[in-house]
Amino acid sequence: MDIQALRAFEDNYIWLLRDDSRAGSGGGSRVIAVDPGEADPVLRYLAEARAELAAILVTHHHGDHTGGIGDLLARHAAPVFGPANEAIDVVTRPSREGDIIRLPGFAELQVLETPGHTHGHLAYYGDGALFCGDTLFGCGCGRLFEGTAEQMWASLNKLAALPGATDVFCAHEYTQSNIRFALAVEPDNAALRERAERAARLRAENRPTVPLTLAEEKATNPFLRCDQPAVIAAAERRHGKSLTNPAAVFVVLREWKNDFR
Ligand code: ZN
Ligand code: FE
Repeated sequence: MDIQALRAFEDNYIWLLRDDSRAGSGGGSRVIAVDPGEADPVLRYLAEARAELAAILVTHHHGDHTGGIGDLLARHAAPVFGPANEAIDVVTRPSREGDIIRLPGFAELQVLETPGHTHGHLAYYGDGALFCGDTLFGCGCGRLFEGTAEQMWASLNKLAALPGATDVFCAHEYTQSNIRFALAVEPDNAALRERAERAARLRAENRPTVPLTLAEEKATNPFLRCDQPAVIAAAERRHGKSLTNPAAVFVVLREWKNDFR
C-alpha cells in the first residue's frame, strides 16, 4: 500500500492511502484520508497532486480526527466511514467490527472495534497496514476517556494478535515522550534503549517515528508487555502489592503513565 503522512496541528498525522493506478477520471491518483482533523493539508495535497478523494476513514469522534471533514466534503464528494457506535454527523457509512471496506484501486480494509480511548473507537487493517487512531501509539497507548481499562486492554490485545510485520500508522507523534515512561518501567530492556536512541535521532532531524511495526511494539511497548516479568515487577513496586494477571498490570501502568512527568 502506498501511504503518505500529512502533519496536522502539533503532533497529529493524517494518513493518505494512494491509488496510483490512475483510476481517477482526470487521470490523477485517488486517495483515502484517515482522520483528517484539519482540511487544509489534505486540500493542498489534492490540489497539488491533482488527486481525487476516494473516501475518508474516521477512527473516533475527537475533533483532532474529524475537524477537517466538513470542509473536505464541501469540495470533494466522498463516503465517510466511521464508528457506528459514536454520534459523528459527517459519517455516512457507519462501520462495525467485521465490516470490509472495498474501494476500487485499494486493498480491502477490515474494520476492528477497539474501544477504550473512546467507546466506539475503530481501527482499519489491510494489506499489512493498521490505522489505529488513538488506541496504540509508539511505545504507548491512548488515554481512557470513555472506555474502561478492561476494554482498552482487550483492544490492545486484538491489535497485538495481528502479524508482527504489520506497519502501524497511529495518529500522533508521541513516541519519544512515551519512551521516557517505558524506560522508567523497564530500564534494562535493551531493545527499548536502542529504540530510544533511534527515536531521538529521527526527532532531532524532525522525521517521524511512525509507522511503527507491531513486532517492535511487542518488544518495547510496556502496555503490550503486561505479561513480562520485568514489567510485572515494576507495576507491583508501583502498586505496593502483587498483581495477579496482565489486565491488572495494565491498569497500574495506565494510571502510572497518567501521573508521569
Ligand atoms: Zn483522540
Ligand atoms: Fe487524537
